[in-house]
Amino acid sequence: MNDHRKLGRELGLFGTDPLIGSGLPYLLPAGAAIRKAVEDYVHELERRNGYQHVNSPVLGKRELYERSGHWDHYAEDMFPPMEVGGEQFVLRPSLCPHHALIYRSRGRSRRELPLRLAELGGQYRSELSGVLGGLNRVRAIHLNDGHVFCPPEQAAAEVSAALDLIEAAHAQLGIEAARYRLSLGGSSGKFVDDPALWAHAEGVLRAVLAERGRPYDEEYGEAAFYGPKIDIQIADSAGRESTLSTVQVDLYMPGRFELSYAGGGRPAMVHRSVVGGVERLLGHLVEVHGGALPAWLAPVQAVVVPLSEAELAAGHDLLRRCLAAGLRAELAGPGRGSLGARIRAHRLVPYQLVVGPREAASGGAAVRLRDGGQAGDVPVAELMARARPVF
Ligand SMILES: [Zn+2]
Repeated sequence: MNDHRKLGRELGLFGTDPLIGSGLPYLLPAGAAIRKAVEDYVHELERRNGYQHVNSPVLGKRELYERSGHWDHYAEDMFPPMEVGGEQFVLRPSLCPHHALIYRSRGRSRRELPLRLAELGGQYRSELSGVLGGLNRVRAIHLNDGHVFCPPEQAAAEVSAALDLIEAAHAQLGIEAARYRLSLGGSSGKFVDDPALWAHAEGVLRAVLAERGRPYDEEYGEAAFYGPKIDIQIADSAGRESTLSTVQVDLYMPGRFELSYAGGGRPAMVHRSVVGGVERLLGHLVEVHGGALPAWLAPVQAVVVPLSEAELAAGHDLLRRCLAAGLRAELAGPGRGSLGARIRAHRLVPYQLVVGPREAASGGAAVRLRDGGQAGDVPVAELMARARPVF
């Protein structure tokens, strides 16, 4: 497997600057294009599966995190508070508290549950600089997050549905899990002290895992502070493991925020991330695919290659049609070297559209694939259809 830091430089995916600080990478155009493709895909996958998308601010008052339990159980991973106008604000360590407040922003009836809220939003972690590098462990994480509020007896079905989404997304992204991990609590002060609550939530996760029949390992001390989770682990090029996707059953935060639905019920909260933080996902994707990403994810999906100056105008016209159809496309004109050199320079681009005299006359292109195969004259609309994710 490849190292994403090396590939990231080669492909122009991301960079860092000491003036911004370590653990705070920025995405260059190619990285931003992949992130947008992933975001659009996951947004649509969630929409089709009953999620409603929300947007919430990346900070909140200190009291919010005292209420959520982060202050007591997670403070060492949080940035210190900022004093503004006599109030203290904290960069959020997770999106859950904001979503809990959105749930209780009005009365909820049992009929409208499960309420599934999703957001791709920033969350912040005060990692020590020693563990930072590349995209795997960062201080600013853009997380594909979501929370399902449902009556407790529906939690198992919602956990299973979240695992369905995760497995569908992994197949579409070309990712294979290293293993599934049931992450349990422990006796340290890191975890909320309520044995009955833990036993209930753990029972839900075990029942789902048993029903799905997928092997998993158990580890104590790896849970969230508010409840156990199923973590889907991935391994990087050096074999180091990290969590990408996760599903958690939480019977703690709904109580802390006094969430309810008509008739006196208290919902369970299922926290889930289908593809994790986009930074870690991006690093993993380029490692797994060695830079040759599936067409729907490729930063540049089509490159137009006119044979000579005589085909340049036809090339520009084809480029305009590609862009209008929704493809991420660019043109490599004759000023950029021989045909062979231009093809080599774009060897990772899924569709190489060569325009010779015949194609210039017909308005088409001879489509060359990444593996050297020839696909003939494929209409732009058909290329676009091939470069879409499948749901
Ligand atoms: Zn959450």
